[in-house]
Amino acid sequence: MTEHAVVIAGGGPTGLMLAGELALAGVDVVIVERRASQDLDGSRGGGLHSRTIEVLDQRGIAERFLSAGQVMQVQGFALIPLDISDFPTRHNYGLALWQSHFEPILADWVGELGVPILRGCEVVGFAQDDKGVDVELSGDTSLRAEYLVGCDGGRSLIRKAAGIDFAGSDPSTSWMIAEVEMDEEPEFGFRRDSAGQHALGRRAAGEAIRVVLTERHFEHTGDPSMSELREALVAVYGTDYGLRSANWISRFTDMTRQAASYRRRRVLLAGDAAHVHPPHGGQGLNTGVQDAVNLGWKLAQVVNKTSPESLLDTYHAERHPIGARVLRNTMAQVALSSPDDRHQALRDTMTELLSMDEPRRRIAAMLSGLDIHYDLGEGHPLRGRRMPDLDVHTADGPTSVFTLLHDPRPVLLNLGEPGGFDISPWANRVRLVDAKHHGVWELPVLGEIAAPPALLIRPDGHVAWAGDLTDPELPQALATWFGAATPAH
Ligand SMILES: Cc1cc2nc3c(=O)[nH]c(=O)nc-3n(C[C@H](O)[C@H](O)[C@H](O)COP(=O)(O)OP(=O)(O)OC[C@H]3O[C@@H](n4cnc5c(N)ncnc54)[C@H](O)[C@@H]3O)c2cc1C
Repeated sequence: MTEHAVVIAGGGPTGLMLAGELALAGVDVVIVERRASQDLDGSRGGGLHSRTIEVLDQRGIAERFLSAGQVMQVQGFALIPLDISDFPTRHNYGLALWQSHFEPILADWVGELGVPILRGCEVVGFAQDDKGVDVELSGDTSLRAEYLVGCDGGRSLIRKAAGIDFAGSDPSTSWMIAEVEMDEEPEFGFRRDSAGQHALGRRAAGEAIRVVLTERHFEHTGDPSMSELREALVAVYGTDYGLRSANWISRFTDMTRQAASYRRRRVLLAGDAAHVHPPHGGQGLNTGVQDAVNLGWKLAQVVNKTSPESLLDTYHAERHPIGARVLRNTMAQVALSSPDDRHQALRDTMTELLSMDEPRRRIAAMLSGLDIHYDLGEGHPLRGRRMPDLDVHTADGPTSVFTLLHDPRPVLLNLGEPGGFDISPWANRVRLVDAKHHGVWELPVLGEIAAPPALLIRPDGHVAWAGDLTDPELPQALATWFGAATPAH
């Protein structure tokens, strides 16, 4: 039986990102993917939010995606547009890039890192014991791993087989989605009627036309047929605009569910396997990629034996509340999209509120992922928050914080006088960088904050500790996050 440190079930956005993070940390990882190639039916997710672009930038790969998509203000709450161009980040925008284009770029990176992907192969079951997991594959083969991560989407077999409850709400609404060719040029844009909101659009000339239609009933099973799509178009627009062909017809609902636990012993869940919700606000792929970035370095440290297994509990503790918040805001967005007069009045009120700066900043920071704050205890406002990508001067010349994170190792960034802290008990794990930064420190929503003299930055770009190097909490934070001090020889 072939052995790997980590087996990832599912090579969608979440599985690919996690594999990249683990490979960068030197972990022997394999992806098992049901699809024979990275091709998707339809283009699915429409793009990346600011924080996702930032986490890709932290690994030095953002440019690959930026050059393939279109930078724009993509943010919307129930389609109420939210501009983030005044946010203090290098990426004060989103990226319009179809998931069908996003995945191959990410897969190329994972390929460059040497991660094997067993394509056209399925995980069909597993059994875990104290030392590892036997992962059963289709074709009567199996793998042995120390850990198994289910990145296998909303219908996750891993989640079900692990017996993890998927609590939440059943669907209340269903939408038909299609990518089509039409003889006539339809009326692009949104239309609202007693069923709800409908949309016809095309991102670029030559691309298929994207159709999203709210259905009057939600108790459907399976994908709609071409004749159902035609009927639905006629019901809304009075014509099918000469519907000729469809390269993708599907449906999605507002089912909203979250795994009660993101971990059961040696089995973990990430991405849609851990949370499903309607695509309002375009957050699913983004949340999955960010789950992977939170989990990757922790799992790597546990596998590499620098940290105890308990570090994995922080993955659930940090990411479950983030997932819950996404579920909640998508439920609110669905409610605001209800066609009845009362909900529309509520939507008008919300539109008015979101035209004001403070509410806009708060909601936009939530949707873009820029306000994520893990509860790492009291202290400097940066503690638990994302480290801004400051320009800094080091002994090697000018650089930026995100550049320091390309090699996903923790960084102790000392902005005061060099010296003053003995890093040697952690030197094999944590990089001490003496640097200078001249300029204002500003965070989304919070605004200007006091510059800390030093910071401990985790590989996912979140600040574990900020303060003075003489703070007795610093050695404690180093040990908590990056393992016990190594005694001097
Ligand atoms: C219409 C629509 C629009 C959307 N728009 C957006 C958007 O604008 N922004 C956004 O962020 N998100 C959007 N999403 C959500 C986004 O598509 C998902 O959240 C995202 O694909 C989740 O990634 P994942 O890797 O967790 O899961 P998936 O993409 O579902 O990947 C799971 C992978 O696991 C494989 N697999 C499944 N079971 C097994 C098994 N047993 N063994 C091996 N492999 C297996 C599958 O083949 C698949 O490749 C949208 C979704 C829809 C439907």
